[in-house]
Amino acid sequence: MSQTAFQRALQEVSDRRIRAQKMQEDRCQEIEEKIPEIAEINRTLSQTIFRIMNGEDFETIKKQNLQAQQICRDKLKEHHYPGDYLDLHYTCPACCDTGYVNNGEYCECVKKLASDYAADDMHKISQIQLCSFADFSLSYYQEPETSKYYAYVSQILKFCQDYAANFSLDSQSLLFWGEPGTGKTHLSLAIVTEVLKKGNTIIYDSIGNLLSKVEKEHFQKQETLETDTLQLLLDTDLLVMDDLGTEFQSSFSLSALYTIINTRINRHLPTIISTNLEPEEMTEMYQSRITSRLFKVYQTIKLVNVDVRKKKSEKNNLTMHFE
Ligand SMILES: [Zn+2]
Repeated sequence: MSQTAFQRALQEVSDRRIRAQKMQEDRCQEIEEKIPEIAEINRTLSQTIFRIMNGEDFETIKKQNLQAQQICRDKLKEHHYPGDYLDLHYTCPACCDTGYVNNGEYCECVKKLASDYAADDMHKISQIQLCSFADFSLSYYQEPETSKYYAYVSQILKFCQDYAANFSLDSQSLLFWGEPGTGKTHLSLAIVTEVLKKGNTIIYDSIGNLLSKVEKEHFQKQETLETDTLQLLLDTDLLVMDDLGTEFQSSFSLSALYTIINTRINRHLPTIISTNLEPEEMTEMYQSRITSRLFKVYQTIKLVNVDVRKKKSEKNNLTMHFE
């Protein structure tokens, strides 16, 4: 089984640490060959532990070592090297490339890497490249029977284009609903394609896949990594979950879904959800704590199916609810 995004991120951070240490060793060797005075100082510094063990005064040793290090820096500059040439240069000063800060929490650098890896994985398996706003055809809505929807669907397309163009972490969350084949996934992916170009982290998948992954990790209890997918879903800049209502439902999945929706709202992070369910069906299928969050906080966008237009036209009340 392939490594999770978090495991790969921790591995990369660990490799960075090893590379930083190797670079320092190589530089030391290079400089000691070129500047004998520094080699001599380094030999003296390496005796520090024995001097402490022999009971020499710690403060005196410390003072002498600081002076020795300053001499090294001056010597380096004399030879046209940066003063910190022999220091350890970690990629992330916050965690010194250990991946952890404070009391064992993941450092931001790990979260960012894991999120990037997850986005890469998503990029590989999805057909994002194939969906763009330019491919979203309005021609279906130019027939005599469907032309009454043309203005409405054009408005939705324009809204989504503006949403993608102006995307930020303050962007609102969206709920696309409508029957299959109405372009919900196409519009979601066209937004994803544009937002990816801005360098934001995105996770896109069906709700079923995402929740089953979270559930599996939870019950496998892989030590601290048990909830890494959930963590990624809570942290990513944009989360796009397709096909609400098709997932296998359990008390765990409902609870996880609520956690994802609610936490991201509280963190003001945008989420896009699509569903084939009518609002009444959503109300029946999900607890009110979930639907009330969706209907009150999300921008709801109804897509129309031209194939069922006659059947639906009587009862369709086409609206976009702008807050
Ligand atoms: Zn870090």
